[in-house]
Amino acid sequence: MEGGQTANEKDARLDDVSPRIMAYAPTNTAGAVAPALAGKGNYGRPFEPPTRPVFIPLPPGAVEPEGWLRDWCLTAKDGYTGHMDEVHPEFRRAWAVDHKMTGERLFWQRGGWPYEGGGYWFEGLAKLGFVLHDHALIRQAKARLDAVVSHMNTNGILFMWWLNKNNVDDVKAAEGRGRPGEEAEWPMWANGLLGRALAGYYAGSGDQRALQALETAYSGDRDWVGLGWSMSNPWPAFETYTWTGNKEIGEALTALFTKAGDAKTRGAWNRYRRPPREEPGAEPGDHGVHFCESTAPWALGYLWTGRREFLDAALRWHQMIERDCMQPFGVPVFDESYGPTGAFRATETCDVPAYMWSQNLLLSISGQGRMADRIERAFFNAAPATVARDFKTHVYFQSPNRMADKSLPAAGQCTFQATHHPLCCTAALNRFLPNYVMHMWMATGDNGLAATCYGPCKVSALVADHVPVELACRTDYPFNESVEIAVKPEHEATFPLSFRIPGWCKNPGLWVNGSAIKTAPDTNGFVRVERLWKPNDKIRLQFPMFPRVTTGRDANVGGAPYASVALGPLLFALPIPDTHDANTPDPAAKWQLALDAQGDKLGADITVLRSPMPGKWNWSLESPLALRVNAVSFDWKPTPERALPSEPVADGGPSEKTTLVPYGCTKFRVSMLPVTERTFKLAESENPVRPAGAPRR
Ligand SMILES: [Zn+2]
Repeated sequence: MEGGQTANEKDARLDDVSPRIMAYAPTNTAGAVAPALAGKGNYGRPFEPPTRPVFIPLPPGAVEPEGWLRDWCLTAKDGYTGHMDEVHPEFRRAWAVDHKMTGERLFWQRGGWPYEGGGYWFEGLAKLGFVLHDHALIRQAKARLDAVVSHMNTNGILFMWWLNKNNVDDVKAAEGRGRPGEEAEWPMWANGLLGRALAGYYAGSGDQRALQALETAYSGDRDWVGLGWSMSNPWPAFETYTWTGNKEIGEALTALFTKAGDAKTRGAWNRYRRPPREEPGAEPGDHGVHFCESTAPWALGYLWTGRREFLDAALRWHQMIERDCMQPFGVPVFDESYGPTGAFRATETCDVPAYMWSQNLLLSISGQGRMADRIERAFFNAAPATVARDFKTHVYFQSPNRMADKSLPAAGQCTFQATHHPLCCTAALNRFLPNYVMHMWMATGDNGLAATCYGPCKVSALVADHVPVELACRTDYPFNESVEIAVKPEHEATFPLSFRIPGWCKNPGLWVNGSAIKTAPDTNGFVRVERLWKPNDKIRLQFPMFPRVTTGRDANVGGAPYASVALGPLLFALPIPDTHDANTPDPAAKWQLALDAQGDKLGADITVLRSPMPGKWNWSLESPLALRVNAVSFDWKPTPERALPSEPVADGGPSEKTTLVPYGCTKFRVSMLPVTERTFKLAESENPVRPAGAPRR
């Protein structure tokens, strides 16, 4: 299984997991000569279309989590990510050599599910191994991927090496064309997830056998790249092309994005090549994963063809979903289709990593910092709410308000369990942590680096003319406002560093070695500092955070008004403490409260309470950040159908102080808060309450 290596050779290679900071070597296995890399920057690929992304993701492992983020990654390793085989037998079957489904059994409810689940899990497993530089996780990922890699052959169908592309029945079943609903092209979709896992593994390891497997899969038949329930195959196929220059893969991408793209009408994802009709309700709903995985890949179509309208269409679909469906915790309502924002509307856990993935792709290609604002909001709020603090149980659905298990809200899958049916979310939740960490910093085409998302980390990368640099980013962000970065190039060198200014931050500060730098961001929201950097230069970023109160109406409850409270990228919630476990709320908790803004400006009466970060971070209710707000108690008896009072509260008790904590720390909470009349009037005068999008279901 190890390709004839001795154990010592194997260990030597596996232990060499220092960040793969070197530029990618031309690796065309067909022996083609790679074009010169001059002018492509440190992280340019040997084969690229002329239209290039603004930010180039670094190989997994170049950014390593530190501080609270490392604590959470280690919890994920000890919880689900390192132990999925113990969670459910389906994970032992995932792409195992003896799990060779054929015919009808390739579909997810009939034996094929482990192909999807394995794709999701292996991606998270390999990337978490690389970002943590954890040999055991990398070894585990390698062993599972090797079961495919070592059997790949030119007669297989994508990564299904046991099928025969010359056998009509195999082709018909694997392609799944014309199947009803989610079965449409389902096996091909699942293959794309494995392709993504393998591409991530290759990027982190440089293992040529993984690249050969990708090349074999995607050069097998031109149609396959464009097949799938959603567009899971184009990204790994595109990546494979940039590493190999494989002509067949190039032709397949051209067929997808130019020819077949125009003619293709059967694909449920083809609608996303054009912008939406933006009147509320004009577009029919779609499954959340399908939406995320079918919109963003059109941005790759822009890279491949140079046609900007593909990127613009993807951006506009996401703008529409932000306007009509966004939940305060940063991921749209996807239960499982998208729908209007609502206190008891739910978001499937699969959609948290899928949404973050879509924004990462759009961030990299468009360079727009607002995508990173979205990634941070989803990661700091929705992501911790999907899993228990020990990363061993999770919800299938989360909703902004949860007051009682199984009854408020009533959607049964809001309970924390080891698994749910189906198992999709259990597999997918392994992805969000490593994908966040590895995209916190990205390379720029001018041989610099960009800070795209913030948090404590250490970066090892190349800058200037192949100069290794280490960046140590010390911060408790988002639990505090400052980031200190120690820059350590191997020797002094001139290169640019770009820093994203969060969209919510109105008066940022930036200092280099104590001297203030002008911080007017460019149109993408970044400040670029190009200078001669010397070892031990110090950067300090300051992002002052002020409480923000946002109001809206819940169209699912007849337009009931609500308010949500945020500080920086963190959403805050009125916590209902969980007692014995994450499914048992404290019966004595007092949560029947309405936000009662005092003074003449929303948020001005809110006090920020800060305390030191705990020694080990686990999203406990004992948060280092809390907000003191004014609220009134009132007689509130929500039902599953009536999540919020339909009118502002007029008959509450006297105003009192209550404490809000970060949403991600809570298992039961109210984060879409009822409002008093006074709060509502203030909101209307400041910022007229926007009507919510029309209900879709
Ligand atoms: Zn799911």
